[in-house]
Amino acid sequence: MSIFSQDAIEEATSIRRQLHSFPELKFEEYATSDLVAEFLIRHGYALRRNVAGTGIVATLDTGRAGRVIGFRADMDALPIHEETGLPYASKVAGKMHACGHDGHTASLLLAAGQLAQDHAALNGQIKLLFQPAEEVGKGAAAMIEDGALDGVDTIFGYHNRPGFALGHVIAKAGPAMGGNTLYEVTITGKGGHASRPDLAIDPIFVGAGIIQSLQSVISRRLSPLEAGVVTVTQFNGGTGSNIIPGQASMTINTRDGSPEAAKLIDAELRKVVANVCEAYGAQCEINMVLRIPSVVNSLAETNCVVETAQELFGSENASTMYEMPTMGAEDFAFYLEKRAGCFFFVGNGEDSAYLHHPKFNFRDEILPVAGGMFVGLARKLLSEQA
Ligand SMILES: [Zn+2]
Ligand SMILES: [Zn+2]
Repeated sequence: MSIFSQDAIEEATSIRRQLHSFPELKFEEYATSDLVAEFLIRHGYALRRNVAGTGIVATLDTGRAGRVIGFRADMDALPIHEETGLPYASKVAGKMHACGHDGHTASLLLAAGQLAQDHAALNGQIKLLFQPAEEVGKGAAAMIEDGALDGVDTIFGYHNRPGFALGHVIAKAGPAMGGNTLYEVTITGKGGHASRPDLAIDPIFVGAGIIQSLQSVISRRLSPLEAGVVTVTQFNGGTGSNIIPGQASMTINTRDGSPEAAKLIDAELRKVVANVCEAYGAQCEINMVLRIPSVVNSLAETNCVVETAQELFGSENASTMYEMPTMGAEDFAFYLEKRAGCFFFVGNGEDSAYLHHPKFNFRDEILPVAGGMFVGLARKLLSEQA
């Protein structure tokens, strides 16, 4: 039996499809933000708008002392041209909700409507965070910078997951998604004639040495019991067929399975780059241009998620997970660096196209499951005697 009325589910479904038809990219979620705000105002929420640009923090204050719990949904879409052929497919060429943030937003609104009705039976406060720009890993940090976590004790959010049974709720304590760090490296050597490398310092040769040696960070420095990836995603240098260039640049992308692994990979990577450059007489500059930590869930909140899901949907429809389902990153990690909480997963079906695929679609069946989780968590955590 669903927590929600059929009307409420139908409204959330139509909101999800409306958002799907009109996707907006990072920090440009204007119409999305307006739609979210209109719904929340109609249901009696106090709103702070323009948080981190297009973000919203909505508060439901029961007027009674108690905990303050935060629920977060991301609102942005991706620069992908949709190929689903759905009747409500994107009407904006080259933009698409290929990660299901349309569904995340609609399910939090579904919960919001119900919580507004429930609030007389609850204590404390609920804060809903509608966040821009998750896809570039910048929205959560900007929301925090703008005070979105002020007063929040505990925070929850979720992501749909292709490959898992439709509507199945899964949560993992500790690291649950990978960290993602991006470095830009500039190698400065000495340009010269291709026929006289002895008179030059060849930054392409030095870069090749760095690329080879970097894999030792994972294979020889990181514990085999930890997860990590080092990938050189760009390597640029050279202007002519017979010229040794003076400079070359590369981009290195690392993934880590825990904050400890991230620290080790960072230190060892810097050592390799500096030492290889030094060995060949080149200069190097290394800049970290993006850091998204791994998603680290706290144990109590993770247990609370699994218990809530089992109570609501039966033990066959919820489980604890013991291995990370992905090394992909998620900027919810920034909230979890500051507050205890849990980022859980809801299965989008075993046959679902993967995230960021032009044929991906968020399954509407998830809306009452994820929405139900937010309502269930609020009832569990805010019904205790203050
Ligand atoms: Zn995504
Ligand atoms: Zn996503």
